[in-house]
Amino acid sequence: MSDCIFCKIRDGHVPARVVHRDELCFVLEDINPQAPTHLLVIPTEHIPTVNDLSVDHREVVGHLYLTAAKTARQRGIADSGYRLVMNTHRDAGQTVFHIHLHVLGGRPMEWPPG
Ligand code: IMP
Repeated sequence: MSDCIFCKIRDGHVPARVVHRDELCFVLEDINPQAPTHLLVIPTEHIPTVNDLSVDHREVVGHLYLTAAKTARQRGIADSGYRLVMNTHRDAGQTVFHIHLHVLGGRPMEWPPG
């Protein structure tokens, strides 16, 4: 079995609050939320980092953003605003090496990020 926590959740081997699932991605409630709304939009395919994307991933990457926007509308944070983050490698703080789009909202965000 894969060591990847998101692959384990995808395959039903680890419990998680999955709020959406389709052929290209699934959406989880983050286990350690950093904002009132903190969701993770995760591709079904195991892709370790953004550096591993190729032109063949155009559809899935577009789908992650469309799903994030749809989920934000469903959560009622689309008009007030929200932040989409995809951490890439150590200096950005990536801890799970299966790409995922953080959807953070429900409070004002600061800039620059820490
Ligand atoms: P990263 O640091 O950008 O890689 O984000 C990984 C995210 O995954 C963090 O916000 C974690 O809280 C979250 N996370 C890790 N394990 C789980 C889990 O089992 N369920 C839901 N979220 C998780």
